[in-house]
Amino acid sequence: MKKILACLSILLITVGLQAAKPKYVFYFIGDGMGTNHVLMTEMYLASLEGNIGVKPLCFTQFPVASVSMTWSADRNVTDSPAAGTALATGEKTRNGAIGVDPEGKPLETLAEAAAAAGRAVGIVTTSSANDATPAAFVSHQPSRKNGYEIMLEMIDRGYAFYGGADLIHEDRTFDRKPVPPIRPLFEAAGYTVCNPAEFRAGYKDMEKVLMLPGEGQEVSYAIDALGDGPENQEKHVTFSDFVSSALTFLTRDPKQGFFLMAEAGEIDHAAHSHDAATVIQEVLDMDAGVRIAFDFYRKHPRQTLIVIASDHETGGLTFALREPRHLARLQVQKHSMNVLSDMLKERMVSQKAILTWDETKAFLGDELGLWKEVAVSWENEKMLRDIYEATIAKRDPGSAKDLYADNSKIVSAAVDVLNRSCRIYWSGAHTSGYVPVFAIGPGSELFSRRMDNVDVARMIRQAAF
Ligand SMILES: [Zn+2]
Repeated sequence: MKKILACLSILLITVGLQAAKPKYVFYFIGDGMGTNHVLMTEMYLASLEGNIGVKPLCFTQFPVASVSMTWSADRNVTDSPAAGTALATGEKTRNGAIGVDPEGKPLETLAEAAAAAGRAVGIVTTSSANDATPAAFVSHQPSRKNGYEIMLEMIDRGYAFYGGADLIHEDRTFDRKPVPPIRPLFEAAGYTVCNPAEFRAGYKDMEKVLMLPGEGQEVSYAIDALGDGPENQEKHVTFSDFVSSALTFLTRDPKQGFFLMAEAGEIDHAAHSHDAATVIQEVLDMDAGVRIAFDFYRKHPRQTLIVIASDHETGGLTFALREPRHLARLQVQKHSMNVLSDMLKERMVSQKAILTWDETKAFLGDELGLWKEVAVSWENEKMLRDIYEATIAKRDPGSAKDLYADNSKIVSAAVDVLNRSCRIYWSGAHTSGYVPVFAIGPGSELFSRRMDNVDVARMIRQAAF
């Protein structure tokens, strides 16, 4: 009897495991998102309510939480191509390589495994549609610079849904060889190139989709989209637009499962700029996209696996936020460093004159709270003034070129003063720091240990295909 019971329980476990294979897989990748980027965002949310500690995001509440290492085959500090390849294929490669091993041999990607298993495949990002991370899922190239060749492979793979901020090298190769424009090639292969509104209006008749911002639209930093006011939201294509459109398209046939890789690609760029307020809004933007997946999970909990990962930490971010009021100061910043720099330029162009130091100070006060919410020491004021004297003050007010000149130096120094006043410190570009892993759904228990980046892909493969 005991034997029969034992056999029965093994049988039940086996059946249980087989039944647990998820039909729907969401793979979210936060580019440059270290553990501290996530924690800082949650502490910021708590600080807005005057609280110590965190106000959790959606994805940090998933039942499985872990960390992953990110080193590549030839460097302790990875770049996005090698990290993307590890997360896409389960194998490490040298920095710069896309979907190939260190010798250049193609590696099978999760997207290929999913397609072979009969799933619909979607690959979306807020970065360029053929940038390093999405490229690692759709192509096998010696270098990320081969933007055109990557797109030819995207067409070749023929996946159902692609989306991104733009395309790199649409009509020329990296070494400037002229080539046929790529959009007609996508269209000839059955793709409809559309923006989110066009997609909503016509997706039922589309065979395959390449989603890009339309005329007058762009994928902005989330902080800039928010700062643009509710009346201008149609101008901005968001991470959530990509996730919800891809989900709509990939679930057209209820019998077919899907694999969707969605990259929040701009966390990395904001962290390279050491711009904490912009990083926080990018992480929140990613979380908004994850919420769409989580709502889907709640409808199909036994069939949906959601995995959150990151390719590497960017910025060497640390913080020592003693009091909520320190971090809450960041809310004064309503635009990214890039847009602030452009705004300074536009002021000078419209008044056809170089800004005085007092006008520059007033601008930094209005936009970043300096000399207002944020006390500025005389050393910092001198440092900002010196940059002003060396850049803006030196320009010729009669020269349009000078009025249009780059103002990022003073803006980046001023953002640094604001960040430091919030006790936020940055130390560089990509680091070897841990990145977070979160998971929910059937197979998520595989992620409940310290991981290496290659394990994340291997476990998804094991769980789902
Ligand atoms: Zn980077």
